[in-house]
Amino acid sequence: MTDRFAERLLDWYDQHGRHNLPWHHNRNAYRVWVSEIMLQQTQVATVIPYFQAFMARFPSVQSLADAPVDDVLSHWSGLGYYARARNLHKAAIQVCEQHSGEFPADQEQLEALSGIGRSTAAAIIAQAFGERATILDGNVKRVLARYHAVPGWPGQTAVLNQLWQHAETHTPDTRVRDYTQAIMDLGALVCTRSKPDCDHCPLQPGCKARARNEMRLYPGSKPKKDKPEKTTWMLILEDTEGRVLLERRPPTGIWGGLWSLPELDPAYGAEELQEACSRELGLNCHTPELITGFRHTFSHYHLHIQPARLPVNRASAVADADNRRWLHRDEALTLGLPAPIRTLLTEPEQARLL
Ligand code: SF4
Repeated sequence: MTDRFAERLLDWYDQHGRHNLPWHHNRNAYRVWVSEIMLQQTQVATVIPYFQAFMARFPSVQSLADAPVDDVLSHWSGLGYYARARNLHKAAIQVCEQHSGEFPADQEQLEALSGIGRSTAAAIIAQAFGERATILDGNVKRVLARYHAVPGWPGQTAVLNQLWQHAETHTPDTRVRDYTQAIMDLGALVCTRSKPDCDHCPLQPGCKARARNEMRLYPGSKPKKDKPEKTTWMLILEDTEGRVLLERRPPTGIWGGLWSLPELDPAYGAEELQEACSRELGLNCHTPELITGFRHTFSHYHLHIQPARLPVNRASAVADADNRRWLHRDEALTLGLPAPIRTLLTEPEQARLL
């Protein structure tokens, strides 16, 4: 320890940190790993109910490995960034097949599992096994960038390397489990993105950003690039029994492996939808009813979704297959669906408010 960084942080954690999170109970590598993956890009309060439902359904790494991927995606539905769920499932299989169902307490072996990066591997080692390992998640990056006034966007390798060095230096040899939780908590509760509460921060005495009153400059932002805009028709095709047609998306890419609604090229006008359904899907439909469109933002582009409801005369023209099914809405809702599709099926006019 080069300064009192860890000591101050641990004193603060003892009084103000989060000690009672669900993954702190029955703590083991499996529960720590699932919580860490869920917490990427998602706040603790949102994660808690998902974590509890996930653990009730998949109480062990073996039960997760044995489950169909659809079941895993369905329990992830609403958390977003679905590649995380697919990797979780893959890694569970790897742990069972390559490590007899036991997570290795080894940084390199953990990083070899699907979806586990350097910081997540370290969090598992520190939190589950209590061994010294250094984490650097989004919260920690923000705290260290401010504390040391490290300029630049942490997505750049040179900036990231500096932050890793600082993180290594501050990680203590003892109480490493508490320390990793403490620094994540400080980032989430005190050194927040938009309103750092420096007056109540235990690191204030050594913090360079605070000394210069330049908290907002750190960490540097990602250079801005305008996201492209795309448009699509999304069809709620309904048969005479009230069933809707769902299609499973390809395993990789946007909403990979999730169930969604059939789409049509936006080049079709509303008056051409019936004909397009007949030509592209072989379905004979009644006049479409347009639903208010909305925009959904992915990491790389904005998608304008224009939904249309089309009653179908004879559903039999499109048979159920592995990647295409006619389902009643209550059945459809048990599948892994992206949040906007779930809302389109239940409250179509609310989807635009998501
Ligand atoms: S003093 Fe302020 S900017 Fe520095 S680490 Fe604490 S909350 Fe963040």
